[in-house]
Amino acid sequence: MSNFPVSNSTSFFQAYANFNQLDNLNILEKVWGAYYYYINNDLFATGLLIFCLHEFMYFGRSVPWAIIDRVPYFRKYKIQDTKLPSNQEQWECMKSVLTSHFLVEAFPIWFFHPLCERIDIKFQVPFPPVTTVLTQLAIFFVLEDAWHYWLHRGLHYGVFYKYIHKQHHRYAAPFGLTAEYAHPIEVALLGFGTVGIPVIYCYFTRNLHLFTICLWITLRLFQAVDAHSGYEFPWSLHHFLPFWAGADHHDEHHHHFIGSYASSFRWWDYVLDTEAGPKPHKAREDRMKAKAEVNAKKAQ
Ligand SMILES: [Zn+2]
Ligand SMILES: [Zn+2]
Repeated sequence: MSNFPVSNSTSFFQAYANFNQLDNLNILEKVWGAYYYYINNDLFATGLLIFCLHEFMYFGRSVPWAIIDRVPYFRKYKIQDTKLPSNQEQWECMKSVLTSHFLVEAFPIWFFHPLCERIDIKFQVPFPPVTTVLTQLAIFFVLEDAWHYWLHRGLHYGVFYKYIHKQHHRYAAPFGLTAEYAHPIEVALLGFGTVGIPVIYCYFTRNLHLFTICLWITLRLFQAVDAHSGYEFPWSLHHFLPFWAGADHHDEHHHHFIGSYASSFRWWDYVLDTEAGPKPHKAREDRMKAKAEVNAKKAQ
């Protein structure tokens, strides 16, 4: 892997054939190694990889939801069943998200590889052990969720809501594509939770591979798109992992414009009593009533 921007006369398949001779690499590692060797410019290879990964995973994950919106069978699983997005709405949203991706992301992405080199984010093969990858993914999920909870809650405060976060709330009944429909400042602030947290983690531990970051970005995009899908199925993940947020949690946020601020998990909203929706609202009211009655009795 070299940094010289000279063209590499080898084709990708020739590069792959060379890596294929290395028995200690799995197929993904061979493809990864051949890709970097073939591009022959690490800065460009990393920038292109992250940009394509983002576009492919975000839009790729949104397409099935757009199809599901057009299949009447799934209507019974729609959370806000009277509010199906029109073709026009979906098209407008897609154009806006795509423009923002090119405007906000296309420029800083080229600084990512130099940053990787500076703080020792590795990109060579082989990849780290599976246990390391899984542990780091779990850490990023937990930390991003905390970052998202507090920042999102802050964005609902007066002027921040009015000038920044209101854009994301244009759709009271979200659909997959709306996950990243937001003001550029919000994209940057919340995006820091996804990209900045692994960077800070690596700054202190010096132990992170770019492949893990790619996996993390993919899973975080799936989480965000699914949370905005507007569908709740009997097989949705939160039925098996009760602390997982999912669409059930985030749809309530869009519907009621308040509460349920976290991204991946339910614990912050549960512990700090900020869950959205009629059920938690009623529970809060009952608790307040009971408290007031106790106080009134004490005062007698
Ligand atoms: Zn919000
Ligand atoms: Zn949202």
